[in-house]
Amino acid sequence: THFGYRDVPEADKARLVGEVFTSVARKYDVMNDLMSFGVHRLWKRYFVATSGVRAGDRVLDLAGGTGDIAALLLPKVGERGSVVVGDINRDMLRVGRDRLLDRGFARGLDWSQMDAEALPFPDRSFDCVTMAFGLRNVTHKERALAEIHRVLKIGGRALVLEFSAVRAEFLKPLYDFHSFQVLPRIGRLIAGDESSYRYLAESIRKHPDQETLKAMMEAAGLERVDVRNLSAGIVAIHRGYRV
Ligand code: SAM
Repeated sequence: THFGYRDVPEADKARLVGEVFTSVARKYDVMNDLMSFGVHRLWKRYFVATSGVRAGDRVLDLAGGTGDIAALLLPKVGERGSVVVGDINRDMLRVGRDRLLDRGFARGLDWSQMDAEALPFPDRSFDCVTMAFGLRNVTHKERALAEIHRVLKIGGRALVLEFSAVRAEFLKPLYDFHSFQVLPRIGRLIAGDESSYRYLAESIRKHPDQETLKAMMEAAGLERVDVRNLSAGIVAIHRGYRV
């Protein structure tokens, strides 16, 4: 069960990540709530509330398969705006689309399978690109960031919500215990899948911290990049502009 993604050749990684998300797509919600004590909903709400997205905006929500971010964005873009949900995994897109249809969201939404590393849009297509808990899973993050920059209009915003480095010392042992002891057990009990959640904990540790991701966004051409920590840095919002 100690499935080491680190040892897997690059070419296979994308496929394996795809399979992880297929296996968890259905239990995704329950798991997110259990793992984060429901707090992921607050993080997402705050992420969109502070996004600066306005009526009429055209927004791309990358790795948006669950539809969580899109559902929050739609009321903001209003009648004249639109949201494209892009995800590499067909099952995630299907689950998200069905769920949002059930909630009465259809208008202004477009669901499309795509790889964040090679976006199927012309340059300067969007006012805003959001990516929540997705960048971590991308093999070549610098490619995805360059693509995000490319498809942004001048003055457009890139917004990344992602796990980051915990900044409060007292929290670190608790957080480690939760990640490496509790999380895989919840994964086994609820999703019948321990290795996926072991991978999740590992991928969070390997993900670039606040300063590293900020530098990566700047290297991709984004400007005025700033970082906001939520829950003491368990997650962070990175924001950058195309100028
Ligand atoms: N944004 C959603 C949310 O916050 O609820 C979903 C987050 S989920 C943890 C990560 C998503 O990233 C999955 O749906 C997965 O299919 C997608 N993903 C992984 N690699 C990707 C890539 N290279 N391009 C686009 N999406 C990708």
